[in-house]
Amino acid sequence: GTLPAPERIERIVAAAHSRYRTDQDGAVADYIPVLAAADPDLFAVAVTEIDGDVHEAGDAGAGFTIQSISKAFVFALACEAHGHPALRERVGVDNTGLPFNSVIAVELNDGHPRNPMVNAGALATTALIPGATPAEQWERVRTGLSRFAGRGLELDGGAYHSEMLTNQRNSAIARLLESYGRIDVDPGALVDVYTRQCSLRVTAHDLAIMGATLADGGVNPVTGERVVSAQTARDTLAVLASTGMYERSGTWMFEVGVPAKSGVAGGIVAIAPGKGAIGTFSPRLDPAGNSVRGQRATAYLSRALGLNLFASD
Ligand code: GLU
Repeated sequence: GTLPAPERIERIVAAAHSRYRTDQDGAVADYIPVLAAADPDLFAVAVTEIDGDVHEAGDAGAGFTIQSISKAFVFALACEAHGHPALRERVGVDNTGLPFNSVIAVELNDGHPRNPMVNAGALATTALIPGATPAEQWERVRTGLSRFAGRGLELDGGAYHSEMLTNQRNSAIARLLESYGRIDVDPGALVDVYTRQCSLRVTAHDLAIMGATLADGGVNPVTGERVVSAQTARDTLAVLASTGMYERSGTWMFEVGVPAKSGVAGGIVAIAPGKGAIGTFSPRLDPAGNSVRGQRATAYLSRALGLNLFASD
């Protein structure tokens, strides 16, 4: 199937926004001090069609840190550099069923991270980004994610510094990966690059374009640039389908039926292959770390726009 006509999408996006505008369920993340200061009422919904048309409602230009959503796009960059078998082998593509910052998941598996969408696997993935120095790796990540967005993304310095001060857990995970011989880079420098990647500032508008690039087989539908191969886009979506929404990924697929990735600042990107993508932003989260209004608005849009991958009509 195809998406409805643009005027209809416009109305559906506005409806998704007004339907959940006053919903106050959930709580803003506070384990990174700067996240606790977010305005909890911000709410944005954006849809990018595969032809590059963007429809949006609410605070679609409001900036926030990409956080774990970066994991999806850094995975794509690593896949592009090393190929499908290497990522499957070194990082793995299975859901751990454990929270994103779990150390247990690493211990249970001889240090094999198993899943690029939780912190252990995301750190192992960032370690694979080509570059002679951590600064070069960071520049690759920043410019790579910028190509997905179609504009130059910048670091949110306040968020980066705040998280670096409270990053004991990620440092421990990086050390653990080192102890098992699972990374070839310095663990301290790796955590620095990973924290920078999480602190890139985006909008819901950006997320919808980044997602649409994956929906479009790796070509950014706004700039026309090929960012990654069709194979990489497919591999990334397959990983998101089973692991993108933390330990709630199965429930998400059962209810909404589109691969998606969320981050603790309140962003969610959801991708409908061959059709387009949804970007949402709302800082109040459920206990797993997924934005409450973002999930509800995305579920509504998936139904109204006919995006469920498993629907035959
Ligand atoms: N920078 C955050 C961390 O590593 C990202 C968490 C998330 O969005 O799930 O703790």
